[in-house]
Amino acid sequence: MTAPIRPQPGILDIALYQGGASKIEGHENPLKLSSNENPFGASPAAVEAMGRVAAEAHRYPSTDHADLRAAIGEIHGLTPEQIICGAGSDEIIHFLCQAYAGPGDEVLYTHHGFGMYRISALAAGADPVVAPEVERHVDVEALVEAISPATRLIFIANPANPTATMIATGDIARLADALPEQCLLVLDGAYAEFAEGYDGGAALVAERENVVMTRTFSKAYGLGGLRVGWGYGPQHVIDTLNRIRGPFNLSVLALAGAEAAMRDGEWVEECIAVNAVERARLVDGLRQFGIASDESFANFVLARFADEATADAADAYLKLRGIIVRAPKSYGLPHCLRITVGRPEDNTRVLNALGAFAQGMTQ
Ligand SMILES: *Cc1c(COP(=O)(O)O)cnc(C)c1O
Repeated sequence: MTAPIRPQPGILDIALYQGGASKIEGHENPLKLSSNENPFGASPAAVEAMGRVAAEAHRYPSTDHADLRAAIGEIHGLTPEQIICGAGSDEIIHFLCQAYAGPGDEVLYTHHGFGMYRISALAAGADPVVAPEVERHVDVEALVEAISPATRLIFIANPANPTATMIATGDIARLADALPEQCLLVLDGAYAEFAEGYDGGAALVAERENVVMTRTFSKAYGLGGLRVGWGYGPQHVIDTLNRIRGPFNLSVLALAGAEAAMRDGEWVEECIAVNAVERARLVDGLRQFGIASDESFANFVLARFADEATADAADAYLKLRGIIVRAPKSYGLPHCLRITVGRPEDNTRVLNALGAFAQGMTQ
């Protein structure tokens, strides 16, 4: 008798990733503000490019993504050789953990850090380690304190999800300076486009050997369904990640759509500009109803309620009105709701609903 087959250590500790809900019972067409998607969709040029290559779907895609990397390099002023593309930036996060962390190693992130860091760390057999935050902000000192000889990777999303807060580039540089040699800092820039004047950490990557940046087409570029993300890092890291990357990890459609989206700067700039105006309107509106939130540097707002019961009640109230937001309970924020910034008319609907809810609470 042999023992029954069992998964590798750590795998059964992974709780399935919970995506933003998209359905409400009894609502044909709910307003989905739960996944930080671009409410205006993708660039029409991207949609058109995908249509054009659909007839070529019987052909295997490029293995080296040269055209897409060239476009990213051109637009962002980066060396294409130091760029790697993945099926979403989730896949780049996964590659990093697989390549650099294993049993006995630690992967460090902060209290309200993005859920994929834990999942990818456990999938690699490594131990996830959580450092505290200060008032929903990444705390560089706490991270430095949490570094041990076993630490291999540190993940920070800047701006962060689900908190929408940001830390200064100087703070990140300080963290990079404090890293021991056996450690890589990963700057997750999924929302970098929404933070005015921020380069996602690209300049920091360029001047160091121990910092990597990840980016995505899923948020500002409106291509969450296409699954394209990318990483920019020191050559030794990119060369390492390419060894474990599947040769055909991006489809013909994904490559064509993402390249066209990257080259259509006007579309994304316009979406970002509307987001900035609407984000401010949402934050101000909430404040007027007595609902607090931190300044947002992303395309969503984290609304804070008095307690979990009030947040649950607000969530239910929105659902009754056909509006789906995200309850970030699994992120240690049970008294909050994360609301994606929608189209102007969507945000008006949210504000009307939460205004009525707040009024009901005070009566
Ligand atoms: C959405 C998100 C990602 C990744 O999304 P992909 O669709 O896999 O590119 C990464 N990090 C954070 C913090 C996110 O919110």
